[in-house]
Amino acid sequence: MNILFLGAPGSGKGTQSKNIENKFNIPQISTGDLLRAETSSGSEMGQELKRIMSSGQFVSDDIVLQLVSKKISSSECENGFILDGFPRNLSQASSLDELLKSLELSIEYVFLIDVPTDLIIKRCVGRITCDTCGKIENEFFSDFREGDKCGDGVFVKRVDDNEETVSNRLKVYSEQTEPIINFYKKKGVLHRIIGGEDGPQRLTDEIISIIKN
Ligand code: AMP
Repeated sequence: MNILFLGAPGSGKGTQSKNIENKFNIPQISTGDLLRAETSSGSEMGQELKRIMSSGQFVSDDIVLQLVSKKISSSECENGFILDGFPRNLSQASSLDELLKSLELSIEYVFLIDVPTDLIIKRCVGRITCDTCGKIENEFFSDFREGDKCGDGVFVKRVDDNEETVSNRLKVYSEQTEPIINFYKKKGVLHRIIGGEDGPQRLTDEIISIIKN
């Protein structure tokens, strides 16, 4: 089972991917997480990626395609995968199509998470992530704050989750990523789900019921 999550930054793709990963035991492939891991390697390429990501721009298609292709072809993904944050433009969507064709695979479900823009901004600006287990909390909607402990880890803020970068990321999303919605609509695999202020579980239940039906 191969699943893809689409949606603006802060729409909840990461949270839903993790919930679906736990439910169906298929791995999440988050290009944002893979790239952030590169940035902390200290390499020259890592420094360059950090600069691009801090501005809210996209890194080059070649780099992300290489990361995704390596993951999808690995034994870890033999029962399926959940793509989170890739593809992000039409060129990446076509490259993914080609890659999947060569592996005789396809995407069965695309979930587009639609969330009002004012809520998106709050979700990003308040987002904190455990540096060890990846758990996501929000300073506006929970008692957790940056620096608080989470099991063996600690909650940290992403460098690109400030108001200025978030508004740039939203602009890039509407210009480059939104056209992909039609690409998958035409394939007949798109499911639009509406996120709100009532927490992630309702959406997870909706996604599970679509998959089970
Ligand atoms: P995310 O964690 O998905 O919000 O991604 C964080 C940042 O990583 C983005 O703002 C981009 O700079 C970069 N990034 C993640 N995925 C991609 C992708 N598919 N193509 C280009 N850049 C990406």
